[in-house]
Amino acid sequence: MSECLFCKIVNRQIPAKIVYEDERVVVIEDINPQAPLHVLVIPKTHIASLNDVTPGQDALIGEMNRRAAGIARDRGYADRGFRTVLNTNREAGQTVFHIHLHLLAGRSMAWPPG
Ligand code: 5GP
Ligand code: ZN
Repeated sequence: MSECLFCKIVNRQIPAKIVYEDERVVVIEDINPQAPLHVLVIPKTHIASLNDVTPGQDALIGEMNRRAAGIARDRGYADRGFRTVLNTNREAGQTVFHIHLHLLAGRSMAWPPG
């Protein structure tokens, strides 16, 4: 996906602050943070949205969630709490169509979300 922003970040064609990387995911700082900790867990493979995940990618989705929890723990937010968000399509506010899990922490958060 040559025109995909997050594929370009994964491929180092566009710079980003990478806080974690392995064979399957990269984690970057969000360019417009909405909390003291706001990072995005991005799979290296291009998946446009949660609507496009296949059964064979279930482990990858699980890994994204566990990685978010691990980063929250490393940063001291496991007990205080943190929020993970995965926006899908227009009404949910998805703006980048390469799946990514938001990890937000460091402030109280309202429910329901806006
Ligand atoms: P979405 O609205 O699709 O759920 O989330 C997209 C997120 O990507 C937003 O929080 C936005 O701030 C972030 N973002 C958009 N462009 C860039 C970029 O070029 N670099 C980084 N690090 N984050 C970006
Ligand atoms: Zn992509």
